[in-house]
Amino acid sequence: MSEPAVHQLFIAGRWVDSVSGATFESVNPADTRDVVGHFQAGTAADVAMAVRAADEASKGWKATPAPKRGELLYRFGALMAEHKERLARAMTREMGKVLAEARGDVQEGIDIAFLMAGEGRRLFGDTVPSELPDKWAMSIRQPLGIAGIVTPWNFPMAIPCWKMMPALVSGNTVVFKPSSDAPHCATLLIELLEQAGFPAGVVNLVTGAGGEVGDAIVDNPDVAVISFTGSSATGRTIAERAGRRLKRLSLELGGKNAVVVLRDADLDLAVDGILWSAFGTTGQRCTACSRVIADKPIADELVRRLADRTSRLALGSGLDESIDVGPLVNAAAVEKVARYIEIGRGEAELVCGGARVTGGELDHGHFFAPTIFAGVGPMARIAQEEIFGPVLSVIPADGYDEAMAAANGTHYGLSASIFTRDVNAAFRAMRDFETGIVYINAGTTGAETHLPFGGWKDTGNGHREAGHVALDTFTEWKSVYVDFSGRLQRAQIDNQPS
Ligand code: NAP
Repeated sequence: MSEPAVHQLFIAGRWVDSVSGATFESVNPADTRDVVGHFQAGTAADVAMAVRAADEASKGWKATPAPKRGELLYRFGALMAEHKERLARAMTREMGKVLAEARGDVQEGIDIAFLMAGEGRRLFGDTVPSELPDKWAMSIRQPLGIAGIVTPWNFPMAIPCWKMMPALVSGNTVVFKPSSDAPHCATLLIELLEQAGFPAGVVNLVTGAGGEVGDAIVDNPDVAVISFTGSSATGRTIAERAGRRLKRLSLELGGKNAVVVLRDADLDLAVDGILWSAFGTTGQRCTACSRVIADKPIADELVRRLADRTSRLALGSGLDESIDVGPLVNAAAVEKVARYIEIGRGEAELVCGGARVTGGELDHGHFFAPTIFAGVGPMARIAQEEIFGPVLSVIPADGYDEAMAAANGTHYGLSASIFTRDVNAAFRAMRDFETGIVYINAGTTGAETHLPFGGWKDTGNGHREAGHVALDTFTEWKSVYVDFSGRLQRAQIDNQPS
């Protein structure tokens, strides 16, 4: 086997070593003997250089017509499409999700690149009538300057693209810090951005620890906006730091997403939707279904069917196309899930799973059996706290109102779904779920990039990714009035009776 490559930072259009002279490893979670590569342990000094490069590139990039910026996004999206299989395989190797899902992750990157490329010819503001004669009134978007982008490992290509594409098309330059569990995915993206022809300094990559590189980006006064996706705990610390500087901040944080299954639901469809949402990406999606709220008359039957299907899921390396569930991302994730299994045993009935899976090749990876708890109380810790693993809690409830109260009874509010054949119940649910995303007769995952993505309550701070509203994070509004009357006209005064 050849020596794993040493990868570099990307600053001012050049691949460079960190001033630290240190590196860290990224390993395959399905087989920790497989080292994906060595990556630069970036420092605050590297961030300062990246910010300087982004600042120097900013004037020229802002002045580039937005449709021209959009053309580079198109080129980048086309390159991602051309390299889709290579990118997906690299992703599965580095963070574990099965290949079909890794291809989906790359596809999300392509979709947002093409969507935002089109925004280069829109970036709409409003043109509205003025209340005064011979006067023009309009609002326009302008870039903020430098965008600091900090991302998690679970969607290691889609999420950076969700952030970088709207930032870039609206004229910002970027300093990007990826998760230390997925630096190779980030490096591959940056290589394609370079190949697409973005000018030097427009995009900069600094790998390294969150507490060092992430903090330095958040604290840098020249970084105008921070777009962060990750845990609510990290989001809170970033919000405090950014708040002290009154810095624009978009947070996309944790979830505890519920599927409600009413007594009239198509149970086969519900089981399909729940399994995909609960155990896809080994339960490590912000939109993963970790709670099923089951109407009492069908609760036992639903648990029986779920347990039967769950016990037949194949675990292993996601590079093998026959595998349903890949590994957890690292040893700390295995420990965290195991801790919650112990908590769950004291709170509810363990129906299936509940342990690490080893034996043969699995001995070398972070595999954990998909797990179901039944008879879970809505306020149990396993029903309230984000476990971020393949653990599903089934909560019995009596009818729509009790089910909806349980679904909304958490601090999180990202995604929710309901399975029912009753159109009235479906419309009530669309109104009643306290979440940013709602599905009817589908699981809690599967967002499309042209609609807003994000959550209520502790899942975020009110911003949204994707859709044209993503531009709101990366642009400042300017209202422009042009008076061509040739005389002084006073709004709210000259057009009112005195
Ligand atoms: P995390 O531990 O919070 O890390 C996220 C990113 O923040 C990483 O790049 C991390 O760097 C960095 N970081 C850590 N400490 C930092 C600090 N003090 N300042 C600045 N940056 C810092 O989250 P994760 O484990 O990667 O991702 C899982 C979480 O993300 C889950 O809670 C999940 O629900 C959430 N998520 C939310 C969404 C959404 O859209 N709502 C989507 C996907 C995931 P290091 O890797 O170097 O520590």
